[in-house]
Amino acid sequence: LYNMVQDLKGNIRVYCRIRPLFRADTKNIIDFVGENGSLFILDPSKTLKDGKKHFNFNQVFGPTASQDEVFKDTQPLIRSVMDGYNVCIFAYGQTGSGKTHTMSGPSNGTSKDMGINYLSLNDLFQLSNQRKDIIKYDIYVQMVEIYNEQRTVEIRSCNDDGFSLPDATLRLVKSTTDVLSLMKLGEVNRAVSSTAMNNRSSRSHSVLTVHVHGKDTSGSTIRSCLHLVDLAGSERVDKSEVTGDRLKEAQFINKSLSCLGDVITALAQKNSHIPYRNSKLTLLLQDSLGGHAKTLMFAHVSPEADSYGETVSTLKFAQRVSTV
Ligand code: ADP
Ligand code: MG
Repeated sequence: LYNMVQDLKGNIRVYCRIRPLFRADTKNIIDFVGENGSLFILDPSKTLKDGKKHFNFNQVFGPTASQDEVFKDTQPLIRSVMDGYNVCIFAYGQTGSGKTHTMSGPSNGTSKDMGINYLSLNDLFQLSNQRKDIIKYDIYVQMVEIYNEQRTVEIRSCNDDGFSLPDATLRLVKSTTDVLSLMKLGEVNRAVSSTAMNNRSSRSHSVLTVHVHGKDTSGSTIRSCLHLVDLAGSERVDKSEVTGDRLKEAQFINKSLSCLGDVITALAQKNSHIPYRNSKLTLLLQDSLGGHAKTLMFAHVSPEADSYGETVSTLKFAQRVSTV
């Protein structure tokens, strides 16, 4: 039933999530209307009558939506991985709009309010356990970072001698505890490189891939994967203000995000040519974008008046890839 419901809705979905307003010195420019996937945004330099834009998505989560509510609307998609579907979930938006909050959880590192990454794996383990008499599943995870169109592996497993293995090792995980310790390791690796590189994480794409291998009693197998992607911040930088490495970074981000947009749009329009090869990110995700794969993009927006420009550009990007 999960898949029937999903298939009816098409293979590309866009959810918008509005971050709570944290500052008292600015007003909220986003208004959203309950359950129907609509939101209005007000241009702070215009009047209520002239400055109102309307956007429509598969779902809109307001500032008070909990992690569990967000997960509830994502769960059917995630469960379809156990039936052999490939799934990609992206978090898109400017830095500070809540991407990492949705995917990983709060930045203060508490284990409360865990994000989609953890809740998904938890759910997959539960399903695997429920089905264990019919299908035996093995679940592997891998974390990859893409920075300036270069791919680096975030989680390197260590063998007993403490040497790190050279590359892309898939880690078999048996429980969410295993996953949590792997994610911690990934974060440590990231933190080490980010002090060296001046908080690089908002300027790289972080991809957590879950590979599912299943074998039923008759011996037939399924293989599928779930990509959980925390994208680099989508903000445009002012070319007059940044130079050198920062400009190069910004150009790489710009290029890879627009390639992602092109790929999803081409898929939504059922074009015969899908430009996967134009970026490392789309190349990495190729098998899980298009075909029978299912894609969900979370467009994250900040509600502050001074984010108006970025918020509109995020909403336009999201609208472009949406098939609503
Ligand atoms: P991004 O990854 O897009 O740069 P973050 O996820 O780091 O943004 O969010 C910026 C800050 O706002 C963090 O401190 C985060 O914990 C907080 N935050 C983001 N979204 C929410 C939310 N829905 N509810 C509560 N706090 C949030
Ligand atoms: Mg982040």
